[in-house]
Amino acid sequence: MRFADVTKSYGDLTVLDKLNLDIAQNEMVSIIGPSGSGKTTVLRVLMTLETINDGVIYVDGEPLTHMPSGAGLEVASESYLRQRRSKIGMVFQQFNLFPHMTALQNCIEAPMQVLGLSRDEAEERALDLLQMVGMDSKKDQHPTRLSGGQQQRVAIARALAMRPQVMLLDEVTSALDPEVIGEVLNVIRSLNSEHNLTMIMVTHQMGFAREISDRVCFFYEGKIAEQGSPEKLFEDPQNERTKQFLHAVL
Ligand code: ATP
Repeated sequence: MRFADVTKSYGDLTVLDKLNLDIAQNEMVSIIGPSGSGKTTVLRVLMTLETINDGVIYVDGEPLTHMPSGAGLEVASESYLRQRRSKIGMVFQQFNLFPHMTALQNCIEAPMQVLGLSRDEAEERALDLLQMVGMDSKKDQHPTRLSGGQQQRVAIARALAMRPQVMLLDEVTSALDPEVIGEVLNVIRSLNSEHNLTMIMVTHQMGFAREISDRVCFFYEGKIAEQGSPEKLFEDPQNERTKQFLHAVL
C-alpha cells in the first residue's frame, strides 16, 4: 500500500501534507509522533472514513477511491468501497463494540452480513478467534460486563473475523487501565508473529513499538520526519524533532 503525495486538510488546517508512505505486505509499521501530527488521520483515510484533498493512496496497486471500469478507472461505488473496507480491519482506542450484542454476536455480525457466511460458519470462526484472544469463556457477555482490556480483545477478534489483509490499530491501549494493557499487547504480539498480516499501529507505547515493529515512522506536522528500524530510530535518531519527542516521552 502506498501514499503518494497525499494531502488532507480540514479548512485551513493541513493535517497530512504531501505524505509519502510505502508499506509492504506483511510489514508491521508503527506510527509515533506528537498529538495532532496526523497519525490517526492516516488510518482514517485508509479506511475511506475521510476523503483526501490531493494525491493518491494505492492498495494492491489500485487507487483506493477508484475501481476498474473497462480499460480504465472510475470513481468507486459505495458497494465497491464497502468490499474494500472489509479487507481492512480497524481497532479503535474506544472499543466501539455493539453494546446490545454479546461478545460472540459482535464477532459474527459482519461476517454474516458482509461476507455472507452462515450462522454456523460465522460462529465457528468467531469462537476460534475468541479463544485466541482468551475470551471464549466470556462469549455470552455483553460489553458492559467486560473490562476495558477484555472489550478490546473482543474488538480485535471481531476485526479478525473478517479475515482482513491489513489491520489498523489506533492507540488501542490508550483508554485502558495500566494493569490490563499487557493482556492486549500480548494479543497483538501473537497476531504479529502467527498471522500473515500487514499491520499499521498508531501508538504511544514506545517500548512495544520498539519490540514488535519492522519499521517506525515518526510523524511531525502531517509528514514523516524520520523513519527506520526501531533500533535505529530509538537509539540513534537523526532528526531534531524526533530527538525532542523521544526525550519528552521516554
Ligand atoms: P493524537 O495523538 O492526539 O490522537 P493524531 O496525530 O492522531 O493526534 P489526528 O487525529 O490525525 O492527530 O488529527 C490531526 C489534526 O486534525 C488535529 O489537529 C485534529 O484536531 C484535526 N482533526 C481531526 N479530525 C478533524 C475533523 N473531523 N475536523 C476538523 N479537524 C480535525
